[in-house]
Amino acid sequence: MTTSTARPTAEKKRKYSFTGRGRGFQFLGLVALIFWPWGTLIGACMLAVGHIESTEYHCARCGSKLGDKSAVLCPGCGAVFR
Ligand SMILES: [Zn+2]
Repeated sequence: MTTSTARPTAEKKRKYSFTGRGRGFQFLGLVALIFWPWGTLIGACMLAVGHIESTEYHCARCGSKLGDKSAVLCPGCGAVFR
């Protein structure tokens, strides 16, 4: 039994992007940290959101950006993620 018709597999690459929304959240979060106690709490939440927002996943095979880190198939080349 051959597997020549099987879909190609690829790795997901994680990439941090410091442009756009993630960066804005992280900046505001840092400023809010100064205002103890509520600002500190809100700032910590914003830093966490900013970190998530600034993380992007890309297909290692074709470089397509994935909208969802739990994606199973690449929207660009159709590869299955391991
Ligand atoms: Zn791909």
